[in-house]
Amino acid sequence: TTSYSLFAADENAMCRFGKTFAEAIFHTHPTQGITVYLNGELGAGKTTLSRGMIQGLGHKGNVKSPTYTLVEEYRLNEKIIYHFDLYRLSDPEELEFMGIRDYFAPNTLCLIEWAEKGQGWLPEPDLSVNIHYAENGRRIDLFPTTQAGELIIQQLKS
Ligand code: ADP
Ligand code: MG
Repeated sequence: TTSYSLFAADENAMCRFGKTFAEAIFHTHPTQGITVYLNGELGAGKTTLSRGMIQGLGHKGNVKSPTYTLVEEYRLNEKIIYHFDLYRLSDPEELEFMGIRDYFAPNTLCLIEWAEKGQGWLPEPDLSVNIHYAENGRRIDLFPTTQAGELIIQQLKS
């Protein structure tokens, strides 16, 4: 398998990559549902990258962290983006009560922060994004885990 890494020097660069990444996802998968895990410590930039993706796809309003709501929904044309933050999930069984399975559907992009809190109750991702502090910016590493994720990486490289 192949992976993709880049350095984002600041918040703007992070958002710009978010737009490129989201466009690569929808260009390669116009209807298939895609799941992305966003990994990295508190303050790494998971929400910033999500905002870059969501606004990059044309959302004009704010993108707030779903820390307290667990999930925020964005409808853009015929697409739905679900942005999860499971940091405050105390019991992964709560996901069952949320009807978690229904979120993973065609025409849907699921972005998940703190997916490890829902371990065993979430589908495997198509792609994982790992964000690390690097000097004053961030290093971003993308690892595909499905054929779909692989295709997205290839698109980013082309
Ligand atoms: P997380 O969701 O991972 O907890 P946030 O996105 O909420 O992190 O916060 C990240 C913080 O780091 C914000 O203050 C943001 O301005 C900053 N930031 C985001 N991306 C970068 C970057 N590439 N370089 C430097 N600072 C960044
Ligand atoms: Mg966050």
